[in-house]
Amino acid sequence: MIDESVERSAAPRTAKEEQAYPPWKERALRGLALWGDPLGRQIEHIGHGVYSVPSCSGQGVTYEVDLKVFTDEPESCNCPDRERPCKHLIAATIHRAKARMAARREQAERTAARASSTSLAPLVATL
Ligand SMILES: [Zn+2]
Repeated sequence: MIDESVERSAAPRTAKEEQAYPPWKERALRGLALWGDPLGRQIEHIGHGVYSVPSCSGQGVTYEVDLKVFTDEPESCNCPDRERPCKHLIAATIHRAKARMAARREQAERTAARASSTSLAPLVATL
């Protein structure tokens, strides 16, 4: 389950706490926790830049995140959180970045394998 210790406590925070640990940082950590959690592994790519992201509460609730990767429009999430970016947007962004990195790594490995399997013997024989 999600580590709820990153949830903001109900107690008012001091200005020093607010500065050291601003709300956006809490959301970023919660998004990171959601991505790294078993629930986060259920993030699904459902369209062009669109992801289904599970709610932190579990219980089968998911939110639709549109990263608007092909437009200049701001990204969106249909969760009830008013703060943006919400943890679902952050989790989907991390998910997308990791997937793209893995795809690039795979492509580089395929290219390297193809290059190493190409024999230069016929070319050398013509010299
Ligand atoms: Zn959201």
